[in-house]
Amino acid sequence: MIPHDASKVSDFRRCPEYYRQRHVLGLVAEGGGLPGILEAGGTMHSALEAWFNEPTSPLGLAAGLKVITEEWPEDPLFPKEPVLFTTGYVKMVFEGYAEKWPREKDDFQVLGNEEYMQMTLPAGNEVCGLVDRRIIRGDEDDLFIMDTKNTQSNQVFARIPDGFALSTQMRGYLGMLKASGANPRGVYIDGVYWGTRRVRPPLVRPGDFVRDYVRFSQDQIDGWARDFEYTLRVINDLTKSHVDRRWPQYDTACYAFNKPCQFMERCKASEQEAANMAGYTEDRWEPHKCGDKDV
Ligand code: SF4
Repeated sequence: MIPHDASKVSDFRRCPEYYRQRHVLGLVAEGGGLPGILEAGGTMHSALEAWFNEPTSPLGLAAGLKVITEEWPEDPLFPKEPVLFTTGYVKMVFEGYAEKWPREKDDFQVLGNEEYMQMTLPAGNEVCGLVDRRIIRGDEDDLFIMDTKNTQSNQVFARIPDGFALSTQMRGYLGMLKASGANPRGVYIDGVYWGTRRVRPPLVRPGDFVRDYVRFSQDQIDGWARDFEYTLRVINDLTKSHVDRRWPQYDTACYAFNKPCQFMERCKASEQEAANMAGYTEDRWEPHKCGDKDV
């Protein structure tokens, strides 16, 4: 059985119809053009995995920059549109992170880094998630989940960490850890602002990085574990009976993160028109597969 991923469940909570289009039909809008913030965020995650695998800042910096060199495409010689995320800029943002939070000053200990978790919840649902990091805060000896959020929007950046601490993804991870017998206390969020509209140096500034944590009560985390299971029941029911018809559409998500949803055109059309609409391709996101290997 394919497990329910906490990030996908988060998409369902944002808009069930988005979940159907993205994860049941497996669609994405075509024509992404040059790599953007999603790709930059993905490379940043890989670089940070390397960074947190090393015990010191010089080693971590070298490891992270090597990852960026390997993962990030070379800048086009004759770009058709302005390149916002040049290789040099991606490296500068990573270096800015490393400078802001040297490993030697960490107030936490990393227990798990880019860790895949999978478990069976009490109601029988298989769930999974790729957690950025599990950490113990040094002064409190408590387990936290650490997550890094990358954004180009200063409005989104201003909502870190509170805007993400209560996300279904974070609540799902906490509920999953609780169900596994651990005793998580909260979330620790890194925010990275990619100021791509700047024209004058410094292009990367210390204020582009925020880090904070939010602590929750055990009542809250227990409630989220129950809430997560309830959402899974609804997803299971809709998937069994309703795959070919639209699921509930939540208009508050149509401009989430200040960008139009990629399925806007399909949602504006009739179901029949949407079914035959060009401009979308099947490209499933399968976090339960790590690399080439099923886990
Ligand atoms: S356009 Fe709006 S209603 Fe349609 S899938 Fe996206 S978020 Fe949901």
